[in-house]
Parts: sequence; C-alpha cells; structure tokens
Amino acid sequence: MMTYIREIAKHEGKEVTLKGWVANKRDSKGLAFIILRDGSGFIQCVVSEETIGADNFEPIKRLTMESAVELKGTVVKDERQLGGFELQVSEATVISIADEYPIAKKEHGPDFLMDHRHLWLRSKRQWAIMRVRNRIIFAIHNFFQAKGFVQMDAPIFTANACEGTTDLFATDFYGEPAYLSQSGQLYGEAMAMAQGLIYTFGPTFRAEKSKTRRHLSEFWMIEPEMAFFDLDMDMDLIEEFIQYVVADILAHCKVELETLERDTTMLEKVKEKFPRITHNHAAKILRGEVEVNGKNALKMLEQDTEDAKARIEACKTEITDREQKIAGGTLKKGEINFNQAAIDRLKNEIKDLESTLENIPVWYASAKNFADNNDFGGSDETILTRLFGTPIMVYNWPGEIKAFYMKADKNDPSIARGVDVLAPEGYGEIVGGGERETDIDLLIKKINEHQLPMEAFGWYLDLRKFGNVPHSGFGLGLERIVSWLCKLDHIRETIPFARSYGRITP
Ligand code: ATP
Ligand code: MG
Repeated sequence: MMTYIREIAKHEGKEVTLKGWVANKRDSKGLAFIILRDGSGFIQCVVSEETIGADNFEPIKRLTMESAVELKGTVVKDERQLGGFELQVSEATVISIADEYPIAKKEHGPDFLMDHRHLWLRSKRQWAIMRVRNRIIFAIHNFFQAKGFVQMDAPIFTANACEGTTDLFATDFYGEPAYLSQSGQLYGEAMAMAQGLIYTFGPTFRAEKSKTRRHLSEFWMIEPEMAFFDLDMDMDLIEEFIQYVVADILAHCKVELETLERDTTMLEKVKEKFPRITHNHAAKILRGEVEVNGKNALKMLEQDTEDAKARIEACKTEITDREQKIAGGTLKKGEINFNQAAIDRLKNEIKDLESTLENIPVWYASAKNFADNNDFGGSDETILTRLFGTPIMVYNWPGEIKAFYMKADKNDPSIARGVDVLAPEGYGEIVGGGERETDIDLLIKKINEHQLPMEAFGWYLDLRKFGNVPHSGFGLGLERIVSWLCKLDHIRETIPFARSYGRITP
C-alpha cells in the first residue's frame, strides 16, 4: 500500500510502499541505511542484500544523495529513530540517480546556501521551517475566520505612498508611475467600513537598502482592521492573537520544533499577559532611570561585559588544556579529532564574545542617551524584552515619528495612539499598529505636514465624511514571527525564496 512517512505509525507491522529521495545513506557489509524523505517526513530504511538478493542490491549501492527511489517494506517500531519507526525493505526500485549533490554535510556559508536555495529547501532544517511557516499561516486564518473577520485582498499596484516614498519600489503602470504596496492598511480601513472586521494577508514591498537580519524587500503582512475598536481593544486583540498562534505552533509543530532544536521555554511564557508600557516609560527604562522587577538596563549591560570577559578566559583555559592533551601524543585519532573540533568551537565562541564586547559600549550609549522622541534601535528592543522576558507592548508614541493616520491623544496631541509589540529573545518588533485618526481637519493638517499629495487621499478622507467611526488595526510581519518561533539567526530562511537588498535569485 502506497503511503506517506507522516502516516507511518498507522501501519506498524504492515507492509507499505514509500516514494521519496535519499537524504542520506550509510553502507556497511551487505546493508544500506537510507534516510528517506518524501516531503511529509524523514525515516530510516534498512536494505539488506540477503533479503532482496545480490542483483537487486547492486542498484542500491549506486544510490547517491537526492536520488529518487520507491521502497516497499515492513514498518517496525524503533524508539531510537526520530518519528519512532523504521522501514525494513523487501523491494527497491530506483526512479532516478542524482548527480553529485552540491550541498554536502560539511558547513557551507550563507551565500552559497542562498545561491542553492532551490536545493537547500530540501534540507531537514529548511523543511521544518517551511512547515512551521505553513502552520502559522493556517493558524492566522483560523483565528480571524473564527472571530468573523473577512479576509480582503488589498491592491499591490498603488498610485502613491501611504507613508512617504523613501522605501518604495517604483514601477510603471501603463506609462504612469506606480509603486508596489508597502501596506494595505488604508484600503483595509475602507473595507472595515463595509465589513466591520477585516484582515489583509498579502505581499508587501519595501526598499530597505540595508542588510539586517530582520528586513526583507518582499515580505507577507497580516493587517487586521476593526471598526469601533480603540487602542485598548486593539492591544487586547493583538495579545490574544499572538498567544493563539504561539499555542497552536507548540501544539501542532512538535516534530518541526524538535528538528530545529528550538528550546520552547520562552514560548511557553507567551500565555502570560504582555506588559503594556508607554514609550515614555520605555525610554526611562533604557536610560536606567527606572528598573524592571529590580533589574536595571545599564547594569545588565555592565554585567554582560563581565560575563563575556569571564567566559573568554574560561574558553582560553579549555583550549590550552585540550591542546596539551593533543600534544601529549597518547590520544587515539578519534580522540584527537574530537578535541580539535571542540577547540574550533571554542575559538568561534571567543570570536562571537569579542564582537559582543565591541558592541556593548555602542548598545550602552544608545540606551543611556535614548531621547524621548526616538524610535528604538535593534539593541534597545533587545534590552527591553530581556528585562521583561515576555513579549511587551509599547504604546503612546511620539507623534512626530509615526505615520500621519495615527490618532493623536485627547490629552496630549503630541502623542500618537500607536503600539508596537516587541518579541523576546532578541527578535524585536513583530507588530506595529494603533488607533486611526478620525478628525478630518487633523488628518488634512498631517498630510500637509508629511508633504504627501493631498489629491491622492481624497478617497481616504471620504471615509471620515461618511459614517466616520473610531477604528484601529495592526500589521504583523509573517516572516518576523516565523523567525522568532523557529529562533532563526536570519530572516532569509523564513521565506521560500527571499528577496532582499542584494538578492533577487534564484
Ligand atoms: P522596522 O522598524 O522593524 O523596520 P517598521 O516600523 O518599518 O519596522 P511597520 O511599518 O510598522 O514596520 O510594519 C508592520 C510590521 O511589518 C512590522 O512590525 C514587521 O513585523 C513587519 N515588517 C516591516 N518591515 C519589514 C521588512 N522589511 N521585512 C520583514 N518584515 C517587515
Ligand atoms: Mg513599526
């Protein structure tokens, strides 16, 4: 019976047929151990020359990495295997023999891997990341659909920028200038006045001319927009939403998270309430003027310096010890290799620690001198979330650094009723949102101040003339949450084919 690895537990003790690719192969006398992948999972398959006969075993010996095969065999429980089963093969058919596979087991640099992205996608880690991404998308739709939100598709060609033209991709629309959408929000507001509760889920384009580990040029954004929601209701929804998605991934992506060796301790804490702090309060925390549960931002960085220095010394001592052991001349070859590998790891750790030591003074200065009307840099976000240990919501921002459509606070018009959600473990901003301005005169004033073309916003201002109501929304970057939940070093691995500054192929 033809089946998929994902279904294998149902067939324990029975004979099944699997079709897939050779992810790895180990040969020993008369035996071949194949790690087969079929897209739905990975399983060890044991082929014995004695069982299938010498003639049938010959082609198995020639199987290279990524060759395709059809394997028939009995499903046997084996606790030591990931997934808990192995296939004892009784019949093997070669579908295709692969050329020498360019991605070997040895370490490759990120540029090499990105150049081979079309193949790299097959590796176990990338497979797991794409499955988590898929499940996050599913969970997002489930969450909003269950609450009666209507999914809307905002246009991708736009005639003007909604937040200025600096990071827009310009294109040509029948001879007229046009831009690729950097947010569907303004259209979302129009749809929310028709449907009440809506969300967009589409591609977003930003010409971010810098290489960071959290910016792509093309990414997917979820933008809900809710009629009759104020900022507090907005924040309640964001919290419930993120908690739902994280819980769903913890429940349904166990194998994937294990494959990624994701320590889920911090993710379990997401079910706690997210602290809500004003931007002004966050600024005070960064400058070390107020503490969080007895912890001071600047002292934490001073401690980091001490810790890094101590750890470097410890690494150096261990390297010397191991070098002496090797020099002693009594070790077996395997033991020498083992020690040498440990030394290489320690040297890399020292390099990382030294670069941290170089960076800490920069982070320290950024925090200590943080101005009240400043936006957070990456290091500021990391400091804030480390102090709390959970996602946090920073609200009530200085209006001057926020978009024109953000609602001015009733009591202090210099404050914008916006909110950013910062993810822990160094991931920083994953959500930006807020309440929208409903005062048409204020909107007109802001559009002028931002030097945006008034004629382009005629339709948007209509929303304030006809059935004007309080409303709010937010934007979540899909790749930012994939990156965080999988604990990736870089956002380029969160999307099948990344587009970023300097990368448009494959
Ligand atoms: P940042 O300050 O991190 O550059 P932003 O303030 O420009 O982000 P928003 O305009 O608030 O971002 O966009 C909403 C959300 O979209 C962000 O919270 C983030 O999750 C995501 N996002 C924004 N820019 C990018 C990008 N270049 N690549 C991936 N995700 C992004
Ligand atoms: Mg933002």
